[in-house]
Amino acid sequence: MTQVITVLGSTGSIGTSTLDVLARHPDDFSVYALTAYQQVDLLLQQCAQFKPQIAVMVDEDAAKVLAQKLRAENIPTQVRSGHEALAEVASAEPVTQVMAAIVGAAGLLPTLAAAKSGKRVLLANKEALVMSGQLFMESVRKGKAELLPIDSEHNAIFQALPADFASNGWENSGIRKILLTASGGPFLGWQKAELSNVTPAQAVKHPNWSMGQKISVDSATLMNKGLELIEACWLFHVQPEQIEVVVHPESVIHSMVQYIDGSVIAQMGNPDMRTPIAYGLGWPARMESGVSNLDFFQLKQLNFEAPDHQNFPALTMAAQAFKAGGTTATVLNAANEVAVEAFLREQIPYTAISDLIDQALNVYNSRPADSLEAILEADQWARDYCCQRLQSLTQH
Ligand code: NAD
Ligand code: MG
Repeated sequence: MTQVITVLGSTGSIGTSTLDVLARHPDDFSVYALTAYQQVDLLLQQCAQFKPQIAVMVDEDAAKVLAQKLRAENIPTQVRSGHEALAEVASAEPVTQVMAAIVGAAGLLPTLAAAKSGKRVLLANKEALVMSGQLFMESVRKGKAELLPIDSEHNAIFQALPADFASNGWENSGIRKILLTASGGPFLGWQKAELSNVTPAQAVKHPNWSMGQKISVDSATLMNKGLELIEACWLFHVQPEQIEVVVHPESVIHSMVQYIDGSVIAQMGNPDMRTPIAYGLGWPARMESGVSNLDFFQLKQLNFEAPDHQNFPALTMAAQAFKAGGTTATVLNAANEVAVEAFLREQIPYTAISDLIDQALNVYNSRPADSLEAILEADQWARDYCCQRLQSLTQH
């Protein structure tokens, strides 16, 4: 059966990798909708190649320009704009799969809409799950959606867990620990004094992966691993103590599961997101992804070390935010988004990213995270608080 897919965030790093995989399987997938914030020319090119029924540009002016250009090229794709249109194309009746690849909290509503309407949700947009874990997982259950992790580590864990893990649970599966691997980012081994002067250009230059700017900065601060710790807790119904972060600078092992008999099952491969994307698109079948074979003779060795919690406090903050429960992780995520943007604009130094998040978490009183209103309120509170702090910082 042909799968009908909506790609949310099709112009991004994950979005373009997804289209690369889809282009290799034209008979198995048809594209229903592609969406982007405002990159007209790339979305135009994607419409010409994949002929979606609908293209969504969140930005209204960009949508007008795209519509004109599509008409000029006789491409019949309809153009929509605004955030509601994202949720509509994520839940539209003909759609069977939704790639959730918008970055940040902006992806929450369309990703929830896909879950509620029972789609196969290919989850790259980890922030959506982190900010609304309980609600998100409830929406998946109630909507009878299929949730497949695309984040490479979670995809690896999913592959290394027993196939009946979801029904059997942790205790009956003989699992001792999940080993969540981390590359350590571009500043692995750096001390606080050196970190205080790093520039955005240095922070976004990841040693192994080519990714969007926001997740690249998150990888540099280790907040990406913090968000992934929370993501894993929700996806696999575990607590932070059941997960150990292992720094592995080559990013060849994408994560592992350790069993009570001493076995460790790892998923390995070249660091290329087309592997987890193809896994999610084809599951339970395997399909060609375009990723080259891992060459062990060239690789020669793999290295491992413990994370440096002193100079990279994000991991500890994330674990504590998950333990605190309620809307605390919503605040962690939103404060991080504001701080990373301020750092990328060169408004604050690198080390101020974790300071700002820490301050927001210290001031915040957690609330139950049982409704969308509660989530959005906490998200807004954190954004307002951090913007105020940033204003007072820049005034002094
Ligand atoms: P990116 O910045 O390259 O792309 C983001 C996409 O979202 C673009 O299509 C952009 O137009 C769209 N977008 C941005 N702001 C938006 C808004 N306000 N409203 C609607 N659309 C908006 O990001 P990316 O690196 O592809 O990451 C996407 C998601 O996947 C993130 O949540 C990231 O954490 C996750 N992820 C990425 C990678 C990777 O290798 N890039 C790996 C694992 C997980
Ligand atoms: Mg990851």
